[in-house]
Amino acid sequence: MPFDPRSSLAQLLSDVARRAARYAAEAEQRHTAPLHEDVARLETLATTFPHDATEPAEVLALLDEIGSPATLASTGKRYFGYVTGGVLPAALAANWMAGVWDQNAYHSALVEKLEEITFGWMKEIFGLPASCGAGFVTGTTMASFAGLAAARHALLERAGWNVEEDGLFGAPPITVVLSAEVHASLLKALSMLGLGRKRVKIVPTDQQGRIRPEALPTLDDRTVVCIQSGNVNTGSFDPAGEICARARDSGAWVHVDGAFGLWAAASAQRKHLVAGIDAADSWATDCHKWLNVPYDSGVIFIREPQHLHNAMTVGAPYLKTNDGRMPPVFTPENSRRARAIDAWAALRSLGQIGLEKMIEGNCRLAARFAEGLRRGGYRVLNDVVLNQVLVTFGDEETTRRIIDALQEDRTAWFGGTQWQGHTAMRISVSNWSTTEEDVDKSLEAILRIAGTNVPCEIASNPKRD
Ligand SMILES: *Cc1c(COP(=O)(O)O)cnc(C)c1O
Repeated sequence: MPFDPRSSLAQLLSDVARRAARYAAEAEQRHTAPLHEDVARLETLATTFPHDATEPAEVLALLDEIGSPATLASTGKRYFGYVTGGVLPAALAANWMAGVWDQNAYHSALVEKLEEITFGWMKEIFGLPASCGAGFVTGTTMASFAGLAAARHALLERAGWNVEEDGLFGAPPITVVLSAEVHASLLKALSMLGLGRKRVKIVPTDQQGRIRPEALPTLDDRTVVCIQSGNVNTGSFDPAGEICARARDSGAWVHVDGAFGLWAAASAQRKHLVAGIDAADSWATDCHKWLNVPYDSGVIFIREPQHLHNAMTVGAPYLKTNDGRMPPVFTPENSRRARAIDAWAALRSLGQIGLEKMIEGNCRLAARFAEGLRRGGYRVLNDVVLNQVLVTFGDEETTRRIIDALQEDRTAWFGGTQWQGHTAMRISVSNWSTTEEDVDKSLEAILRIAGTNVPCEIASNPKRD
């Protein structure tokens, strides 16, 4: 199977550009969820491992022709599931360059510089101290893992225990304080760190899912308090200022889960929501959510870089560079993708004005959703302070049926959730390209489907196969 890899590469790249542009244009218009027959066609890829080589162009054609129709158009502007975000054009283009460059972020002067610049800009956006350390990771789950590893290091070092050398067996205990509405990813991080998911103190929240600070337990210098900037359901913020002040007095560590909510700091009108977070010790956020960069991309920020460094570093003679500088050692991974490239491009293309417009615009569209739903007679369960809307259509079964019917209708995509005893549909407006027209079209679909899915009207509920 002879082919000249050099001459065919240019052809292949222009082919991928053509196919990608077509996909992106179609994703704007097409149904959000794939058709059942398109998903079924994925089976044609499930051959035995081929004995013979395949031309790259043919591999690409297979991916596009079989793969593209089977995707969920989550990058499209009427996808409101989870807190997904789309892909900004500059970030996508940069991501392609990153693929061509194939830099291991571990030792690349280019990536090191882009990381430094990007972290600097983000600290400015979030209002974090310029002296903070930072590292790119896969997402907020790993960012929290890294932040809590740093906390574990710092608190135990203070107690005279070297957890990296000696492990946790026999170590002085650490208390972890969590909100009753903690994101599951924090529990995962705790379990991976040997801190345990169950041996935590749970603080009750108000109806928006905010920690009630008066219910905090006594804090001390071997306690980690995890707070949220942006609850995944309601978009609400824990009162960071008050909690950080109490933690500061007692020597406790505060970790902030700000997966999408930290980006509220980019909007003059929402900035007040993150007031006080600059007094925390570690902050986790995602770029693949509200910054609209391609998966995967998360960042951990740390007040005292040394703690993260100590938690993540491991010496090996060949890791030393010629100038004696150690490669970045602020992440769990050694080899890793150069995530700074697309995050830098996203921020460089948006600028402060563009970022604010995107964040604020999404929040305004969320409010438009809430207003339309209320006018339609449905109950919005949360105060819409950010980009998240929770709506219920009645009892659990009705709400579920409407979510299913909407997913089947494919005008827009919404997911379900549980919120303080209610089954709800969750709307997250986090795509840079979503417009008022998209919201109105999606609202129309919701009201049409909800109107014909009143309890007992089973006949109007389309069957799934
Ligand atoms: C999405 C999310 C996480 C987990 O982030 P990943 O990027 O999926 O690892 C954690 N906390 C909150 C509030 C989130 O929205």
